[in-house]
Amino acid sequence: MGNILIKNITAVTMSDSSGVIENAYIVINGNLIEYIGKEKPETEDFDYVIDGENKVVMPGLVNTHTHLAMTLLRSYADDMNLQDWLFNKIFPFEDKLMADDILKGSEIGVDEMLAGGTTCFNDMYMFQAETGRVALKKGIRAVLSDCVNFDGYDRKVKLMETMAEEFKNEDLISFTFSPHAIYTCSFDVLKKCSDYAKSNDMSIHTHLAETQTEFDDCVKERGMTPTEYMETTGIFDSPTIAAHCVCMTDNDLEILKKHNVSVVHNPISNLKLASGVAPITKMIDMGINVALGTDGASSNNSLDMFEEMKVAAILHKGITLDPTVMNAWTVLKMATVNGAKALGFDNLGVLKQGYLADMIILDFNSPHLMPNNNTVSNLVYAAKSSDVEYTIVNGKLVYNRQTKDR
Ligand SMILES: [Zn+2]
Repeated sequence: MGNILIKNITAVTMSDSSGVIENAYIVINGNLIEYIGKEKPETEDFDYVIDGENKVVMPGLVNTHTHLAMTLLRSYADDMNLQDWLFNKIFPFEDKLMADDILKGSEIGVDEMLAGGTTCFNDMYMFQAETGRVALKKGIRAVLSDCVNFDGYDRKVKLMETMAEEFKNEDLISFTFSPHAIYTCSFDVLKKCSDYAKSNDMSIHTHLAETQTEFDDCVKERGMTPTEYMETTGIFDSPTIAAHCVCMTDNDLEILKKHNVSVVHNPISNLKLASGVAPITKMIDMGINVALGTDGASSNNSLDMFEEMKVAAILHKGITLDPTVMNAWTVLKMATVNGAKALGFDNLGVLKQGYLADMIILDFNSPHLMPNNNTVSNLVYAAKSSDVEYTIVNGKLVYNRQTKDR
């Protein structure tokens, strides 16, 4: 780590008060943003100087729901419905995965994310210590959880505790506790997860109400919706990150709001598995914190947050027949500050003095970004992940498109 100066750049701060600052200067000292504004520093005596001409800087993207090492299953099982895909293709494949496989899959995933502007990811998978080691080696911020399903509760608690010990001094690594879903965990397991999270002051990361089948089965078996049922397990008493939330009643949305549950929208995965479209505009109107994720590379099939932002923005305009919903600023917030908030960070996701220095710099000197009439719109509707030129995490330059360093 050292000092980095970014000069004369267009800064999309993601702060509602600061907005976009033209001809900005950013000073990074250690892992923090020391200065952002229009004043030119008196010296250019920095370890690294980036000239921001024709470039745009914004907070790093936060992929708030993924299963990173599922890169190994990219294009392995496509064009199938979720239950068939999961139980007949994915789970049997995953049963054979070993720690070494997860290491390889994680390396592919982290490389893809850093090159595409993602600086932080929230993972739910297996052999997470391997993923943590890869994250540290490559310098990306990771929130990890070795996911509990079926009868694996005791084993997973042990794994999580071993990992907490291994990474206890690492700034880049933190944890959630993850019951996979209501259809892979019994009531007792969900209750145990809830109690564990509460007594260890942890957040929960889970799948919720992803498909109509999950919704209908839950109502038939228990006389409750998945969200109502999850509430009875006590899970929502801990800070909760719920991925998908596609099949929701108005009462379900009230439950999420009441417990301050953060929702992760994964529009491409939901569309590809034909699960439906989550009522995101209603959630936003109610003040629910909505973040954005890619889900795993098996159901997406990439970890590209720029694609995810564009789809999120246009999908809801089409569904609601209202082009004013999900404007570019709202979607950028979902992919940055809302994700950081869901993960419990209060100093991430905004370019602001004193905040963690996680940011990306895009090269806007490309035909598909010309003319730049509106930087925020161009970021959501026209930019591509391949426009990312530099990725900085925790004050460290971890990807440079020119040199392909990572
Ligand atoms: Zn998922």
